[in-house]
Amino acid sequence: SAKNNGKNRCMMFDEQMTSAFHERFKIEKILREALEYQRFRLLYQPVIDAQTGAIAYFEALIRIQDSSLSPAVFIQVAEESGLIIPIGRWVIQEAICQQRKWIDANYPVKGIAINISGNQFYDENLVAYIANSLDEQKVDPALIEIEITESVLIDNKEKAINIMKKLKEMRIRIALDDFGTGFSSLNYLTFMPVDKIKLDKSLKDKFIRMESIQVMEGIVSVAHGLGLMVVAEGVEEEVEANRLKRVKCDYLQGYLYSRPLRSNDVERLLKIQTNLFGFTERVL
Ligand code: C2E
Ligand code: MG
Ligand code: MG
Ligand code: MG
Repeated sequence: SAKNNGKNRCMMFDEQMTSAFHERFKIEKILREALEYQRFRLLYQPVIDAQTGAIAYFEALIRIQDSSLSPAVFIQVAEESGLIIPIGRWVIQEAICQQRKWIDANYPVKGIAINISGNQFYDENLVAYIANSLDEQKVDPALIEIEITESVLIDNKEKAINIMKKLKEMRIRIALDDFGTGFSSLNYLTFMPVDKIKLDKSLKDKFIRMESIQVMEGIVSVAHGLGLMVVAEGVEEEVEANRLKRVKCDYLQGYLYSRPLRSNDVERLLKIQTNLFGFTERVL
């Protein structure tokens, strides 16, 4: 009957809520244990200079050891539970230590990009924490790039601009991640002190697939007009890469070139690039 159906729907909804709650709770537990038992890892995905085909720098991407849990899922839970602060600190520390190791090994690495999510960005100790980590490891701040999404900036424009200015005073670069998924007002770029935009995979897929290449060309040219560099994310096919080069994207990143790599694989790659080909030659 209709009444029964309604009741069933209610129960199903209830069960879904309960299971979502359990799921969240389970993930939170995994995160706490990963912190305690040091199970977080960073992978590094090369970002390619579109002109030369050489590796320009790496983006650090977090994983949990022996777990297939996606950061897209657990970073959200970390944000909601406050765990993003200790996790984010671990990421900053680990990435800067890795950069120090690359410098010590004489790899001509131009830097690391670190993802920073909302509550982490607005943490009043963030800038000092980064500054301290760089100081301790004696790493040049100019080797570090921070990736934030525009949704983070829209939350509190004034405060965001203040934090960004502090980072810029230290000579840390700022990239706007996932560009094209949120508000994407090009106008924002005129008063946000960003250095770079990262065109989201979804945007690129839409425009490239529809062959509306002029739209891409337009975005890139506005960005360039504002003095910003442009990265295309999620490049999977050669034909895409060629079009993105044609519309003058500065950097390309995606499975076509490399998946995110463990640090020992990065070292192998950099050795090949340095020893065999010279740093400006394409190896990927
Ligand atoms: P993001 O910063 O936009 O990173 C790009 C995502 O696309 C990464 O997923 C990367 O592995 C994936 N990707 C790269 N190339 C390709 C490609 O050619 N095709 C496809 N389909 N995907 C590609 P991942 O590593 O799962 O990370 C997902 C998101 O989680 C990141 O998106 C970022 O928002 C967040 N995240 C990752 N690591 C961290 C971190 O250390 N801290 C914070 N706060 N967030 C992080
Ligand atoms: Mg990113
Ligand atoms: Mg992105
Ligand atoms: Mg993303």
